[in-house]
Amino acid sequence: MVTLPTLINVYQAAERIQHVIRKTPIFEAPELKELSGAASIHYKMECLQQTGAFKVRGAANKILSLTDEEKQHGVITFSTGNHGKAVAYVAGQMGIRAVVCLSEKVPTYRADLIRSLGAEVAVQGKSQDEAEENYYRILKDEGLAPVVPFDDPMVIAGQGTITLEILEKLPDTDMLLVPLSGGGLVSGMALVAKQINPAIHIVAISLERSPAMYESLKAGKPVQVEEKGSLADSLLGGIGVENHYNLPLIDRYVDEHILVSEDDIKTGMYSAYNSQQMIIEGAAAVGIGAIINKKLDVTGKNVVSILSGRSIDTRRYLQVIAEQQRVGEK
Ligand SMILES: *Cc1c(COP(=O)(O)O)cnc(C)c1O
Repeated sequence: MVTLPTLINVYQAAERIQHVIRKTPIFEAPELKELSGAASIHYKMECLQQTGAFKVRGAANKILSLTDEEKQHGVITFSTGNHGKAVAYVAGQMGIRAVVCLSEKVPTYRADLIRSLGAEVAVQGKSQDEAEENYYRILKDEGLAPVVPFDDPMVIAGQGTITLEILEKLPDTDMLLVPLSGGGLVSGMALVAKQINPAIHIVAISLERSPAMYESLKAGKPVQVEEKGSLADSLLGGIGVENHYNLPLIDRYVDEHILVSEDDIKTGMYSAYNSQQMIIEGAAAVGIGAIINKKLDVTGKNVVSILSGRSIDTRRYLQVIAEQQRVGEK
């Protein structure tokens, strides 16, 4: 049997990672309060976190809790996105060797960025699967410690520190809107919320175009779904062939699980820009989009939506903003 992380582990994480992460601010969103009928709506600004996403919390908690011997050998991961950046950053800060495995398909600028944060990049194969094979080979040959993106109790506990920061500032919170892909973020956040105040309503938000966790919860075991591509690229991907921690935690603690469309994501990104001049990536915009397009009922609630990151390609971003502006003018 696996031992699930608890509130104590999250308090320990907060202590452990405090010098590596930023305590991100919380902003008010009066424009959404008006149109939704909520008592209040706030944004937790993880888009202002080090490296541009919350992932540095989980990565820092995992890496800082390794033994001295493991730290001497170094760490390895195979994520192309925010998790890869977070691992590179934390290891770089601590002078630990980090290897990030990528496929040839990953754009050079991404590899360069990971290198500039202090990690080695191992490029091999034409697909993510081949990069993953390379990862297992190096992991074994060189005895590196794996730092996985979501299915790890230390990573989950690190992400849970976000809820501690929210409840410290906004103890009356009664609803959390959390983007969900592999589920490390919502697992950690929900376990803290429910253990401090079980009345807090947890809403997980996944993509219509990649509902791997949603389908897995229904099936009661990990299932694969067809990948369709999305503006919220940080929310793409499966939950692993085996999943030990996220599935049971989400099953136990998440109250409501909704799916959003590409239009909802664009609506959310545009609103963040137009009302608050904030640049956020697609994955971070799902909560705002869901509120504006009435995918969930927030009437009378004190709501906090997690703006999880800001990593987005400039061209793609500008296209979305220009398109939404034209839609708005019609
Ligand atoms: C990774 C990520 C998510 C989803 O987190 P999971 O732990 O995989 O559910 C959401 N938003 C951003 C910006 C991310 O990088």
